[in-house]
Amino acid sequence: MTASTYDTAVIGAGILGAATAWRLARAGQRVVILEAGAASAGATGNSFSWLNAVSKEPEAYHRLNALGAAEYERLADALGRDFRQGSGCLEWAAEEDGITALRQKAARLQTRGYAAEIISGAAVRALEPHLRIASDAVAVHYPNDRWVDAPEVTAALLADGRKYGVEIREAAPVTGFHRHGRRVLVVEAGGEWVQAESVAICAGTGVPAIVHMLGLALPVNRQPGLLAITSPLPAGILSRVVYAPGIHLRPDSSGGLRLGAAGTDALTLEDTPIEPIPGGGEILLHRAAALLGLSASVSVKRVYIGARPVPADGLPAVGRLPGLDNVCVAVTHSGITLGPLLGRLLAEEMLGSPPSSLLSGFRPERLTQVVG
Ligand SMILES: Cc1cc2nc3c(=O)[nH]c(=O)nc-3n(C[C@H](O)[C@H](O)[C@H](O)COP(=O)(O)OP(=O)(O)OC[C@H]3O[C@@H](n4cnc5c(N)ncnc54)[C@H](O)[C@@H]3O)c2cc1C
Repeated sequence: MTASTYDTAVIGAGILGAATAWRLARAGQRVVILEAGAASAGATGNSFSWLNAVSKEPEAYHRLNALGAAEYERLADALGRDFRQGSGCLEWAAEEDGITALRQKAARLQTRGYAAEIISGAAVRALEPHLRIASDAVAVHYPNDRWVDAPEVTAALLADGRKYGVEIREAAPVTGFHRHGRRVLVVEAGGEWVQAESVAICAGTGVPAIVHMLGLALPVNRQPGLLAITSPLPAGILSRVVYAPGIHLRPDSSGGLRLGAAGTDALTLEDTPIEPIPGGGEILLHRAAALLGLSASVSVKRVYIGARPVPADGLPAVGRLPGLDNVCVAVTHSGITLGPLLGRLLAEEMLGSPPSSLLSGFRPERLTQVVG
């Protein structure tokens, strides 16, 4: 079988793969993306997509996320379009312990220079008049936070990448590699051989299976989350991301609201199938309706489960795989916030830049092990 030849084969067409491929192609590389299903079919297409660095510890991870959110500015300059939507985020807690923790978090963020203002429930209502919150409640306003439509960002990166020659092969699952010593020479995908000078594995929850084909273990947990989208609502019902007790929500590009909750996430298990759970959607709608005083005509339009790719210690794993000279990986939670930044940093390193100090605590070798 004849193999087609590229500078880089990127595995996975979620936001990380799209951002990495886009940067490499803009730098002049011939790039192919090998995607098992369709673009954004993984976590990227099933995400809450809040751009933030709010509950990201330790501090180096917080800073990476803050830079990730800021990277969208750079993306807007490069693509001539700002994908960021909304006008901040509001968070509040119900119990005394939660309020104390929220105050401490806001103070910690302030010392790090992150915009986080403690405001009253009355001030919350001045920003979002439909929210039902007691006037004397304690809330935090993160005025610079935004949300994005992640599949839209990914599609824009892929579309611009195509202009620079990126080839996207969908329905092309990677099933094997041909190696010579420390180098991968050929990737088997969708029954074809793809010859590439280097490989970037950006396969989300698929990373462990792919890395295993290369004789390594890299533990990535699959952390499911249940989200629902409501029917369209009149304009002006909500303009921000909101984290209220028992529910988080934001406007959705469809004109409805995107809803989630830690409690309903807990109904899903590591092996819960990615398919609609109508009951979960009704719980979320009930809570959103109580919070915003929604009319009974608002309904759930879609309920779905997304699987967060979360490396075993909760932090990103980005960079060269140990024992291999031409294979890199990028896998993380918070990947919508981090995707454009990590894609750029990974591409720069693959193109020969010195290792980025921003990634020093987030290298794959802290998690990988050689397998038989
Ligand atoms: C419910 C939920 C809420 C979230 N909320 C937020 C949030 O508010 N803010 C935030 O920043 N992040 C959030 N995230 C996390 C974020 O969505 C992910 O970190 C991000 O989408 C990961 O992108 P990715 O490109 O690495 O992976 P994915 O989008 O999963 O893409 C990986 C791709 O690789 C492909 N693939 C897998 N195996 C193979 C193979 N063998 N061959 C070829 N292709 C393969 C898959 O089909 C998939 O398309 C959330 C995630 C979920 C699920």
